[in-house]
Amino acid sequence: MKKAVYYGIRDVRVEEVADTEPEAGQVKVKVKYCGICGSDLHEYLHGLFPESPFGHEATGVITAVGPDVKDYQVGQRVYALTPGSYAEYTVCPQEQLIRIPEDMDWLRATVLEPLAGAAYAIDRGGVKTEDTVFIAGAGPVGLMLLLGLKAMGVQNIYMSEIMENRRKKAEELGATLVWDPLEVKSPARIKALTNGRGVDVAIEAVGIESTLKDCLASARYQGKVIVQGIFTERALVHMLGFVTRETTMYGTNSIHPDLAMQWLKTGAIKPESIVTSVISLVDIFKNGFDVLAAKNEKEIKILVEP
Ligand SMILES: [Zn+2]
Repeated sequence: MKKAVYYGIRDVRVEEVADTEPEAGQVKVKVKYCGICGSDLHEYLHGLFPESPFGHEATGVITAVGPDVKDYQVGQRVYALTPGSYAEYTVCPQEQLIRIPEDMDWLRATVLEPLAGAAYAIDRGGVKTEDTVFIAGAGPVGLMLLLGLKAMGVQNIYMSEIMENRRKKAEELGATLVWDPLEVKSPARIKALTNGRGVDVAIEAVGIESTLKDCLASARYQGKVIVQGIFTERALVHMLGFVTRETTMYGTNSIHPDLAMQWLKTGAIKPESIVTSVISLVDIFKNGFDVLAAKNEKEIKILVEP
């Protein structure tokens, strides 16, 4: 079978590899789609994380089950939250499987994992329906946060984003107001929008110093800052404001698939609309990683179809 194998920075090769069969507690899945995650792009550009999640957003149909697997059968549709799934087949431990309802569209099902990251961040930060929220960044992470907040019924969601296509998408998906932080200073805009108070919750969804500063400066007295962006560089922040405004800051890097699946089942939000391209496995670098790395003005979320 064909599989994209990670060799190093900007070096991912699609190779013919031997099929592996499921061992005890594992199932084999024929992959329908595997989403390109921001973390995968990060690894492609900067090197592997200690426990690499490279290629973990796969949906597909079970083709074989190993010994001791009781709750899953051949033919079932599942989400395989296991790395190494940029391939025609993936082998996944049963604990990392999530069942996909029979009537759910494959594209919709495949964005479960990124939506589950937003679900976790929102849950971890204890965001409430009546909160006013600022999200810095409208890439896949920021847009999933927006949709999660919409699913919860949050009314006022402000966003900043430098890319025009992403600002348009955020507006289309129901953000209250979206601006370019290179043209408008976010903390000043937030102050104007909240009668000088600041937002209850500010969420960093980029992973750079300027957006972290914007979040810290936009949260109200005793407000919260949730950080979900992946940082490659150090960030220099004003700790005096953090202390005097008594800010609470959360780092989040896990998923809450049950909550995300609830949102998907209710049908109130359309997270699959952030998918801008479906590409073939052999084109994963040319049409996938390289395009995303170049900050292409069209792409937001790309899925690989092996
Ligand atoms: Zn992911």
